[in-house]
Amino acid sequence: MLTLAIETSCDDTSVAVVEKPNIVLSNVVASQIATHIKYGGVVPEIASRMHIEAIEFCVKEALNQANKMLKDIDFISVTQGPGLVGSLLVGVSFAKALSVATDIPVVGVNHMRGHIASCYISNHELKPPYIALVISGGHTYIMDVEDYNTMHKMGETRDDATGESYDKVARVLGIGYPGGAELESLAEKGRDNLNFPRIYLEKDSFDFSFSGLKTAVINYINTETMKGHVLNREDIAKSFQSAVIDVIVEKVIRAAKLRGRKQIAISGGVSNNKAIRNAIAEAGEKSGIEVFYPEPKYTGDNAAMIGVEGFLAYERAGESPINFVADPNMGL
Ligand code: ZN
Repeated sequence: MLTLAIETSCDDTSVAVVEKPNIVLSNVVASQIATHIKYGGVVPEIASRMHIEAIEFCVKEALNQANKMLKDIDFISVTQGPGLVGSLLVGVSFAKALSVATDIPVVGVNHMRGHIASCYISNHELKPPYIALVISGGHTYIMDVEDYNTMHKMGETRDDATGESYDKVARVLGIGYPGGAELESLAEKGRDNLNFPRIYLEKDSFDFSFSGLKTAVINYINTETMKGHVLNREDIAKSFQSAVIDVIVEKVIRAAKLRGRKQIAISGGVSNNKAIRNAIAEAGEKSGIEVFYPEPKYTGDNAAMIGVEGFLAYERAGESPINFVADPNMGL
């Protein structure tokens, strides 16, 4: 069984051909980052226009690379939400038009469930029930995945997403957008000696708040600059990252213990951060919990993960009615 998967929720146009069970035959990603860099972040109107320009080429290229034709495709998977409404509309409209023109059924897919499903591509031992941690530029969630269809949200960010806080601190350190990767490599050379706050919120809470930490880092930088001190960027990066990691590790391990889960799967763009991966893996090992993450190419937004979740969504509920709409605030 084959699905043609389309992902346009933010600033990457991605199309993949995925074969059951979770074999990725192609995964084409047209990144818009070079354009958005000039503005220091994603500009929604530019993003939708660029999706329109790229989508047809991406579909042809994904089919070519997979050595398949449209007639081989059993159903289309498309990101329905959450995401930027204009961006989502491009993918959903294209998928629906293609479905009407070819009689291939279409299924709307939840982007967040897609991130979680990205872990299935190369981790065949990962099976529900487990705890999923999704950390990216737009999302931060702890989920209890009971089975392939049922998941419960245990916690989420109350302000900035993890990746967003990385980008904001990076900006103050003079690193261009997106700054996560460079901040991570600065941190590798630094020391955790600045005592930035660990914000755990209420004792039992699995929610996150990164804006207080971000403010503490920015205040420190401003005060030091005013005093005429030379900033140690490596130490700032390391101290910031350590504060993020301590909180994430405490919450995700506590979530697994509370629910009696023996596996944790990390996904989303920030799951590519080695310091975060290693810290969770190390803490997991001490508690007898196995930790999984996707290959780097499936951590950012990509259509392969939408195809993998597409199979689950298609089995769960069948094809979507042709009048289904993009849902920028789609819940899990
Ligand atoms: Zn995403």
